[in-house]
Amino acid sequence: SFVRAKKTFLSVTHAGNSSLLHKFCQSLHTSTPSLAKVVAVLYEAGAAAKEPRLLGCKENELGLRKFLESRGHKYIVMSDKEKLLDRELPDTEVLITTPFHPAYVTADRIAMSPKLKLCVTAGVGSDHVDLHAANKAKITVAEVTGSNVVSVAEHIVMQILALVRNFVPAYGQVIKGEWNVGDIAKDAFDLENKVVGTVGAGRIGYRVLERLKPFHCKELLYSDYQPLTPEMERAVGVKHVSFEELIQRCDVITINCPLHDKTRNLFNKDVFDKVKTGVYIVNTARGAIVDRDALVEAVKSGKVRGYAGDVWYPQPAPKDHPWRYMPRHAMTPHYSGTTLDAQMRYAEGTKDILERYFDGRPIKPEDLIVQDGQFASKAYVQPEK
Ligand code: NAD
Repeated sequence: SFVRAKKTFLSVTHAGNSSLLHKFCQSLHTSTPSLAKVVAVLYEAGAAAKEPRLLGCKENELGLRKFLESRGHKYIVMSDKEKLLDRELPDTEVLITTPFHPAYVTADRIAMSPKLKLCVTAGVGSDHVDLHAANKAKITVAEVTGSNVVSVAEHIVMQILALVRNFVPAYGQVIKGEWNVGDIAKDAFDLENKVVGTVGAGRIGYRVLERLKPFHCKELLYSDYQPLTPEMERAVGVKHVSFEELIQRCDVITINCPLHDKTRNLFNKDVFDKVKTGVYIVNTARGAIVDRDALVEAVKSGKVRGYAGDVWYPQPAPKDHPWRYMPRHAMTPHYSGTTLDAQMRYAEGTKDILERYFDGRPIKPEDLIVQDGQFASKAYVQPEK
């Protein structure tokens, strides 16, 4: 009955979208046929995969195999982001990727994926997909909005404190058997009474502001073309300023906007020339928002006193990436948004997106980045000045 249903379906729609076929079969009261090829590209965890809550790794497959196979779909999971992925793309309908181990879904890859209908980001931030090319090909891109925003906000506060209080060299002394208080204290400050600003005050940026409020900073500032409501501003005591004002006034800057056409290399030599000398910068948004070499120069010259974050370009960061070796940094691999708590949330959210897609139900509007050839999220569409 499935073969007959599929033939009839294809003859009437010429589509091949398994969610529509699923609906069609439901209308015929037949069971859902096996149709969609779902490919997931996830980081390899090795021995760490024994932790069953580490859902987002290749070995634990986002916990989706049973769900997908029980519906008859084919589920292929890999960590390779190049050749193996390219081999699977021509007949893949749904591609699941994560920002932590980003498979770069370029225009070329989209061109070699004629059946691709849905890209799901298991996490937040879909810039690793060429969103313009996805729009052209009418591919839906969805992410699990909000799934790891608390995890990232906590990481940002941790890294701000690590920089301002000069934690990394202090810890370094301890494990090297040294003790030289002056050497650490000469570069250590309090966060209290400093001006702190966030570029982007969306879900993460706002949560950072909430967490910074009790530190009694001198001022909290934000720049964003989507301003907060006056109530939200009052609740955390933050002031809306231009990007120019923010970079010139802040002692600490945290970057919390998505990577898009207008934020790529936003922090470049011109900006580093204008920042307050001795500023600390924490970037957990995306590595490519910061000009790699201009940052190294700014840190080396002391214009930037310290830099931290967990995002790099490309990822994994090559062994010779200069940020690994520049002075006064507190960088980590990209893990702020993939705590075990976050993994549970984005695995569930990915399943929800897939269920909706296969059932032909709308994906939650807040999870949509692009759909029907248009941007659905305002966070990636910065208006011209
Ligand atoms: P969000 O959509 O809730 O907020 C983003 C905000 O940035 C929006 O208010 C948008 O208007 C603003 N924005 C866009 N361009 C801007 C610009 N040029 N200047 C100032 N503001 C600008 O998104 P979110 O959940 O807060 O996440 C933000 C970003 O953080 C994601 O896009 C992703 O790149 C990154 N992220 C990183 C991790 C991690 O593990 N390191 C995890 C989650 C998200």
